[in-house]
Amino acid sequence: MSAGAPPAAQTRGVTPRHAPPFHCPFCGEEDIRPYGEDAGQWRCGSCIRVWKLNFVGLAPTPDPEVVR
Ligand SMILES: [Zn+2]
Repeated sequence: MSAGAPPAAQTRGVTPRHAPPFHCPFCGEEDIRPYGEDAGQWRCGSCIRVWKLNFVGLAPTPDPEVVR
């Protein structure tokens, strides 16, 4: 449809994109790089795991079953 990124007024801070991670969630090392074709996949150069960051959604109110 539209070329390029949408205007900031339409994103309202809720975008499918995420800030790049700083550490591998498995080993904690910082040697991570984007991996593969899909956005959000990362490869750790230390533990050679490939993992994916996935935006699930917004949780405006706490789930009473989660908060104990
Ligand atoms: Zn790692």
